[in-house]
Amino acid sequence: MKLIFLGPPGAGKGTLSALAKERLGIPHISTGDLFRAAIKQGTPLGRQVQEIVTSGGLVPDELTTAIVREKLESPEAAAGFILDGFPRTVPQAEALETFCRIDHVVSFELGREELMNRLGGRMVCKNCGAVYHRFNRPPTVEGVCDLCGGQVVVRPDDEPAAVARRLDLYQEQTAPLIAFYDQRGLLRRLDAAPAPEEVLETLIRMLEHLEG
Ligand SMILES: [Zn+2]
Repeated sequence: MKLIFLGPPGAGKGTLSALAKERLGIPHISTGDLFRAAIKQGTPLGRQVQEIVTSGGLVPDELTTAIVREKLESPEAAAGFILDGFPRTVPQAEALETFCRIDHVVSFELGREELMNRLGGRMVCKNCGAVYHRFNRPPTVEGVCDLCGGQVVVRPDDEPAAVARRLDLYQEQTAPLIAFYDQRGLLRRLDAAPAPEEVLETLIRMLEHLEG
């Protein structure tokens, strides 16, 4: 089964990909992993990626597509895959269409408020790096690390305004992609609010139903 997973930061896509990969017995292919592997192997494409990444640039669509294509056409992906982090834009989705037929595009969906809650509550200890959560796992004494007594702070990236910007950016990039796959009848929306194990069960039932 050839799947694409879409979901905003905070929807638990990483955890769900790991669970689904085990359950469905197909590889999880993420662009981040592909870039790292290509750089490590020193392939011609990998050397191009390395040059761009070290100069602080963004890997262009064409190169990203070439790397993904190489992987999707390898024996490892013959029985199917979960594609994660690609396509990110409509031009990438159009390129993908030219060499691969996707079965389902799964969109993990979660309300804005819940995403802000999950992402915006993150706090870390400045001293030992222990991670806390304002609502789900606060330190026993406010602002003080349970483990080392260090100062527990919210990092700039996790401030509500920064989280809101990240969510806006995702929305902006992904909304056209959602519409693109919806038009093709491939989009499957899934509520990502329950625990990951439960979301996985719903996904499996949905896929079984669709595959009839
Ligand atoms: Zn600490």
